[in-house]
Amino acid sequence: MPSSGVSSPVVFEPAIAEEFLRYAGLVAKRGYIHNTLGNMALRAPHPDFEHGVAYTKHAEISLEEMGPENLVITDIPTSKLLHGERITSVGHNLNREILRLRPDINAVIHVHDDATIAFFASGGFSEVGVLSLDMPFILGKWPYYVDAHMDVEADVAPVAGFIQDTNTVVLLGHGVTSLGRTLSEAYHRLNSFTSEIRRNIQAEQLAAIKGTRPLYRSREEVEEMHRLAERIIYPDRAEGVMADGAVSNEN
Ligand SMILES: [Zn+2]
Repeated sequence: MPSSGVSSPVVFEPAIAEEFLRYAGLVAKRGYIHNTLGNMALRAPHPDFEHGVAYTKHAEISLEEMGPENLVITDIPTSKLLHGERITSVGHNLNREILRLRPDINAVIHVHDDATIAFFASGGFSEVGVLSLDMPFILGKWPYYVDAHMDVEADVAPVAGFIQDTNTVVLLGHGVTSLGRTLSEAYHRLNSFTSEIRRNIQAEQLAAIKGTRPLYRSREEVEEMHRLAERIIYPDRAEGVMADGAVSNEN
């Protein structure tokens, strides 16, 4: 109870550590991790911390190389270490700010994906076109693109201006950050976004060879898919999921 002055210790929970390490391994096996700058943050509730606490990897080691001894726990509004001795890298500032501003989100994954960086660095594209069904359903919202000259890891002030309206932040010339209610959801969003980037590259190459244009979905169609995303991905029935009668309490 806050008034009693008695606080609960921040305990390192092995089950949360195990989940973190499992996804660190999955992300690394996908080839997203080249060095120490790819990272994740996972919120755990705590009675003494309004925003909970964040499990993450400390600086100077990669997700690919890490073990349980490389996990630390930090506060969310500040970078204060609550468990462990070693400080976090600059990217954790952005991950913390996202957790602070999005109480519905509990997990963030940030990587420097090759295809994403190359696609935008080509100078030919300002956003990923939607070719598939899965990207809109899995992401649930439009990706948000942050200009290359802005470093939202070093200065998180601009994040509040856009983070409510997206689950995927594309840092042009830098990488991508995916948000999820769980690590699983953030991981699926990351995979779906980077797949769509690779599909765009292939479709654009094939279209150039054939003298055609890729068949991108319209803005209206994608927005309708965002509206249906929750009941497609988390169905409460096995059939008739897209029937209008299935919508009861969506906002
Ligand atoms: Zn980064």
